[in-house]
Amino acid sequence: MQDPELVKTRDRVLAGKTSDFSVDEIRMLRFGNRVCVPMDDCIKREIMDESHTTPYSVHPGSTKMYQDLKAMFWWPGMKNDIAEYVAKCLTCQQVKAEHQRPAGYQATIGMVPYELLYGRKCRSPVHWDEANIIDLNALIIDVQLDDYGEIA
Ligand SMILES: [Zn+2]
Repeated sequence: MQDPELVKTRDRVLAGKTSDFSVDEIRMLRFGNRVCVPMDDCIKREIMDESHTTPYSVHPGSTKMYQDLKAMFWWPGMKNDIAEYVAKCLTCQQVKAEHQRPAGYQATIGMVPYELLYGRKCRSPVHWDEANIIDLNALIIDVQLDDYGEIA
């Protein structure tokens, strides 16, 4: 335990000067039941990586992550650190961006089914017959039919 603040706190515990903290049987400093994490960015980062980076499921948001981590760990400014960590996560930024599509999105995606429907139909009637009508119907929901005089 190299963190001078934690060493100071540990000494206060051992001297009986605080009851908020305790030192457990493996000499780890605890705040209540929670393990005190030294002010070391690498260690904190590792803990947050462990809790946040889940390759097979959605990353937890900062609130959920804080709930999980505060059951086991404690460090000053923990909630802020977690919020900052989540805000900086590239995967989370990507997911967020997909939910907040820019205004031009509808126009762009609108062209996709237009091309699928009419480009394909003109070029290759065989492919048109084989096309999955349900998928195409799902796609054309976003098309502004009025934008294309001949379709409306
Ligand atoms: Zn994330």
